[in-house]
Amino acid sequence: MELGLQGKVALVAAASKGLGYATALGLAKEGVKVAVCSRTVGDIRAAAERIAAETGAEVLPLVADVTQADDLARIVEETVAKFGALHILVPNSGGPPAGTFETLDESKWQAALDSTLFSTSRLIRAALPHLKAAGWGRIVVITSTSVRQPIPGLLLSNTIRAGIVGLLKTLSQEFAPYGITVNNVAPGSYATARIAHLLNLRAQQAGITVEEAQKQMESRIPLGRLGRPEELANAVVFLASEAASYVTGQTWVVDGGQTLGL
Ligand code: NAP
Repeated sequence: MELGLQGKVALVAAASKGLGYATALGLAKEGVKVAVCSRTVGDIRAAAERIAAETGAEVLPLVADVTQADDLARIVEETVAKFGALHILVPNSGGPPAGTFETLDESKWQAALDSTLFSTSRLIRAALPHLKAAGWGRIVVITSTSVRQPIPGLLLSNTIRAGIVGLLKTLSQEFAPYGITVNNVAPGSYATARIAHLLNLRAQQAGITVEEAQKQMESRIPLGRLGRPEELANAVVFLASEAASYVTGQTWVVDGGQTLGL
């Protein structure tokens, strides 16, 4: 299949590690010029160097905290200043903390809103003029299967990410006349630092080892294992491509069959 991505420009947020990194790498493999951001300068530079070395693509490392509106506006401008345009936007962030209603105070709610819902809407707001100017745009947000089936112990993700999907469905209608599609991918359980952290928490709570906690998690996944980050990235790359020109307003669950529901 011809993806039609050669020469396009992408900005992938929260991309020094995990799913964001795999997405930036996947896009770079298809000939996309990629800007990547995260908070830790050494990590984002190293990530950009690895992607460039593996793919030969131009990769721009940017230091930014996606909870900060000014940082989001700046990285969009730096991307356009470097590459001359912006076509593909992948809003992403660290996951909100685990917890229940009684353990999560107001400050945790606000921080989670800033890092997920507002980081997404602010990044889209900053990028929109450039996507419109290009006359072709792809917005693909990394969400979670919590938008289809609430995950026990992840109240903030369950609550706020549903709002993100509402936002994206609305934007898919508003932006269609501009030639911009808006979709999201909902990862299940992938082998990243985020899942290692959640497995540690579950092991402590249940008084079992991390390996046992992972086995329990994998036993609930029909395909029998955690996902590899590139398996999520493949879905993002397709949705970001010309080949996905008639797909918009969708949530693509990529979870090894874990989510029950039609
Ligand atoms: P990860 O492996 O922990 O990587 C997180 C990345 O985000 C790192 O590059 C980190 O770098 C960066 N980051 C974190 N907070 C940031 C901030 N405020 N500003 C800028 N960059 C930031 O996480 P992941 O597993 O790839 O997860 C990515 C997203 O997918 C999260 O929202 C997570 O909840 C969601 N998700 C993941 C899974 C899974 O199985 N892994 C499942 C469902 C949903 P710095 O710390 O240096 O900034």
